[in-house]
Amino acid sequence: MASRANQRILLACALLCAAALPCADSSRLSAAESQPQPSAAAKFPVASAARLAGDAKQTRFILDLDRTVTFRAVTLADPYRVVVDVPQVNFQLPSGTGAGGRGLVKAFRYGLVMPGGSRIVFDLTGPARIANSYVLEAANGQPARLVLELEEVDRAAFVQSIAPELRPTLGAAPPATVPAAAAPEPIQQKPTATADGRPVVVIDPGHGGIDNGTQSSGESEKNLVLAFALALRERLDKTGKYRVVMTRDDDTFIALNDRVKVARTLNAALFVSIHADALPRAEGDAQGATIYTLSDKASDAEAERLADAENRADAIAGVNLAEEPTDVADILIDLAQRETRTFSNRFARLLMGEMKTTVRMHKHPLKSAGFRVLKAPDVPSVLVEIGYVSNKGDLQHLVSEGWRSRAVGSMGQAIDAFLAKRLATAGAGN
Ligand SMILES: [Zn+2]
Repeated sequence: MASRANQRILLACALLCAAALPCADSSRLSAAESQPQPSAAAKFPVASAARLAGDAKQTRFILDLDRTVTFRAVTLADPYRVVVDVPQVNFQLPSGTGAGGRGLVKAFRYGLVMPGGSRIVFDLTGPARIANSYVLEAANGQPARLVLELEEVDRAAFVQSIAPELRPTLGAAPPATVPAAAAPEPIQQKPTATADGRPVVVIDPGHGGIDNGTQSSGESEKNLVLAFALALRERLDKTGKYRVVMTRDDDTFIALNDRVKVARTLNAALFVSIHADALPRAEGDAQGATIYTLSDKASDAEAERLADAENRADAIAGVNLAEEPTDVADILIDLAQRETRTFSNRFARLLMGEMKTTVRMHKHPLKSAGFRVLKAPDVPSVLVEIGYVSNKGDLQHLVSEGWRSRAVGSMGQAIDAFLAKRLATAGAGN
């Protein structure tokens, strides 16, 4: 186990730092191979209530805490947001807190963005500046409080008010050169096994931490897909044939680019992202699992809607999109991706063949769209929506251990078949 621990790939936290996150423990932003840590929630400050006051000119946010905390508040543009980073906080707020807004705040959400770090993200109705922000000690029977006062401004004043490194480009031309941090890595076309000869399979449970994903009947996508992914890891580990790496194995937020980076850095032979969709009520009901591969143009309107929704994960978690480097230059993606796409499509078909024997599939089970998480140019990647949390029957499956183990079994079969063929081909020197 020690050598496995040593193989942990440490992800640069530059992306999160760019979003003004405390990078106190960057080593935990790593590809997770360890077992989840037992919760130590008791030692963290507890937030017991949150409220908004004021109007569309001036809006105040107040968070009640059982002790004072340090914090950092920044504004972000496109979309307009305020991000407040605090040390890890145990949020014990009534359910539904933040779903509705007031004044300048459309809605807000809160949660873990990394072990040791929590975040509150406010969606704003328009540009606003932080007029004041402070923490009050408990006094006169009042708990400790974190207070944020927002004030309406126009866009020009808004842009001036935010830190230069967080400013959007405002339509300026993108830099002509790729920044050093985003320099393309060499494109590798063949699956490369690790030092111990085993291919790497990356399992990517969607969402996490502050980003719940879709929600229905008290179930969150982030928890359902984590349970599924952990079961899939167990199934694959049992064979002893692969080095299985998870992008997260606990309730932590991971930015989309960092998920892709795990696969690329490890030269993974396969990347499987696990999600559970929900259909907006106005669009009726849908059911069954769908397997997605990457394409520039979505295969249909539903695929496009879904990719848009999944690609919003970073904005939801308060990552500064204006600063986010692209993983590789577009031209390289285009050239290298053709072969990778062939393999992704092959795996998607294999997966459908196996899954349809145990799992109810969507009426169009193979689709494609521009999912950011599938953009590793050199790693065959698929995204599986294992079902609809918005559908009663699917939700019953998603929370059932029996269903999960059957579905995971089928997925494991497809992975076995895909990699057996892929490695045999590579071993033959072609
Ligand atoms: Zn999702």
